[in-house]
Amino acid sequence: MNQLYNPVFISKVLKGYLFDIDRLWKINENELQKYRDKQFRKMVNFAYTVPLYRDLYKKAGVHPNEIKGLKDITKLPVVSKDELKKYYPNGLISSRINKNKLIEVSTSGTTGRSLSIYVDLHDVVMGLFGYIRMLREYGINWRRDRMTIIGDFSPHTVESGYINRGLFSKMQNSFLFKNMQWLDTNDKPENLIEKINSFKPDFLGGYVGMLGHIALLKEKGHGKDINPRVIGSTGSVLDDTLRKFIREAFDAQLFETYASTEAGPIAFQCKKGGYHVLSDYIHLEIIEGGEHVLHGEPGHVAVTKLYGVGTPIIRYTAMNDIVAPLSEKCTCGLSGELIKKVYGRDILSLYLSGGKVLLPSSITQIFSRILYELKTNKVIDLQVIQHSFKKIEIRVVIDEKLRNKGPSIEKIFLIIKNGFQEKVGPDAEIIIKEVEKIDKKLPRIVTKVDKNEFKIKRYV
Ligand SMILES: [Zn+2]
Repeated sequence: MNQLYNPVFISKVLKGYLFDIDRLWKINENELQKYRDKQFRKMVNFAYTVPLYRDLYKKAGVHPNEIKGLKDITKLPVVSKDELKKYYPNGLISSRINKNKLIEVSTSGTTGRSLSIYVDLHDVVMGLFGYIRMLREYGINWRRDRMTIIGDFSPHTVESGYINRGLFSKMQNSFLFKNMQWLDTNDKPENLIEKINSFKPDFLGGYVGMLGHIALLKEKGHGKDINPRVIGSTGSVLDDTLRKFIREAFDAQLFETYASTEAGPIAFQCKKGGYHVLSDYIHLEIIEGGEHVLHGEPGHVAVTKLYGVGTPIIRYTAMNDIVAPLSEKCTCGLSGELIKKVYGRDILSLYLSGGKVLLPSSITQIFSRILYELKTNKVIDLQVIQHSFKKIEIRVVIDEKLRNKGPSIEKIFLIIKNGFQEKVGPDAEIIIKEVEKIDKKLPRIVTKVDKNEFKIKRYV
């Protein structure tokens, strides 16, 4: 039997990692820095046993001996998605690690370009502990409180890698997971709310869009027994109005988490509103125009994961996220770095005249108005296609069952049109079309503007 699927082994490993949950509370900045440097050296040495990194580092003329700590990180080249793809599958695995001990996971298809990497049990456990740590901040006790997690269980996502493929079904019986309900975000909101209602969780975690849909159903009188104390959102950026809408629908605390398939949990908002990087897990670089951004301004993320024996993630740029760092301290006393804001993926952005980039956070803002202003769930899918600086097409899928209920389709289209016009400017043409369905595999935001010719002046 693969030890990954052995519940006794898993329980042992989990217990061995319990200290990790509390690390950021227990150690000071100095100790944290030392720990991070040590882990980083370890990861770089380990990466040198992985063909992808070995080749990259040799080509760049750099050897792990030269890396004493995170201050030396810029000696290493960044790693792109194309490079990871080129070395898939065996070039992504250390010669020291037996492939059978690893789980293959893929990044989600929302960007239309999926990528496979390998994770191991330590990644899974550390990932979970990252979340448990966030929950603790909000007074949720993972041994006692009931938790509902709405994950993405379409084949090959990280969640299904962890859960469907045997690992979690065994772990379910271990001391950690008896209070957990796992649901699939690809299920319909009406079905999900029934299941959540019968489980009565203290904590509800899910993707922003689905939480919005469930909040609307709750507001309309469904899910009477759903009264979580805390809600955690993930997947995309939560704008202020949607945040308020969800919080009020459930009368619960709400915090945002920032995570990715490649890097696991990255950051979360504390009760004081500080957006904390899990600095013992992750090193974040924010890069714009080849320089590190240190404070306030948005830039591209390069992420380095400080643990795991799956595919190393070192100076990885292909998450394509835009994030603004914050060089301040939070009053909550948690060690580690802070970020100011997560803006979303730049490949899901639109490129406007005058060097403006419309980020996904702004696009979500437009669409979330359908939920909280028009109070309707009838838009079930959307796709934005930018044909040129002056022409943007929006495809909308309407739920047949709800077509004649609530606000008219015209009203919905108008709110989308006005929303885009406000952001893009009055002279752009905004076309809105109803379509029957949008292929699940297609990216939801597409731009045909040539990015290489585009000079970024500002993000909106
Ligand atoms: Zn804080």
